[in-house]
Amino acid sequence: MRILVASSNAGKLREYRALAAGSVLDFGLLPNFGELPPFEESAPTFAENAAGKALHYGRFTGEIVLAEDSGLVVPALGGAPGVLSARYAGPRATDEDCVRKLLREMEGRTGDERRARFVCVTALARQGRVLAVVSDFSAGILTTEPRGTAGFGYDPVFLIPEIERTYAEASPEEKNRHSHRGKAFRKVRELLSGTWPGAEGPLITAS
Ligand code: IMP
Repeated sequence: MRILVASSNAGKLREYRALAAGSVLDFGLLPNFGELPPFEESAPTFAENAAGKALHYGRFTGEIVLAEDSGLVVPALGGAPGVLSARYAGPRATDEDCVRKLLREMEGRTGDERRARFVCVTALARQGRVLAVVSDFSAGILTTEPRGTAGFGYDPVFLIPEIERTYAEASPEEKNRHSHRGKAFRKVRELLSGTWPGAEGPLITAS
């Protein structure tokens, strides 16, 4: 089953391709994604942004479109950076700028105050209809300085307690096993294949 991912984030795309490897799902890129009118991710929740994005980009193809909105939620910072994760340090900020700003805001915070969650909401849509919206999260601890070089975004400062490594120190397989995106993806896979608990069959039976 072919699914087009609506994203220009190379890090996310790499992860979706790895997650789909060996499954019946075949992830492609939405053709000409960069030239399509952009979707304004201005809603206050991940779910609204993900569903809105899937619907918006679904207008440009007859195939199923997957869109996600994800980000880092730090309770000690009132939920920041949250839906503004990609733009935390400003509209043109790099990942490194955002990580630096986060570490500055976290200075002097210890113990439970360093707890954080990565949240991922994934929406599927086709031709003007939302087919599904699923979400999951991964709980971790913010380190005091970047560790590791893999991945993207806040990966170097998000420690996975179970393996005592940051997302950026983990192998791609380890990150996918523990990550918010990996967990949400596995729900999408169950929905599409009809193995979701209580499902009476696959979510989509005919195109
Ligand atoms: P989106 O493209 O609006 O969903 O932006 C999500 C932002 O959240 C990214 O640009 C990253 O800053 C952050 N983010 C989401 N998922 C991850 C992840 O797996 N690792 C590191 N940062 C992430």
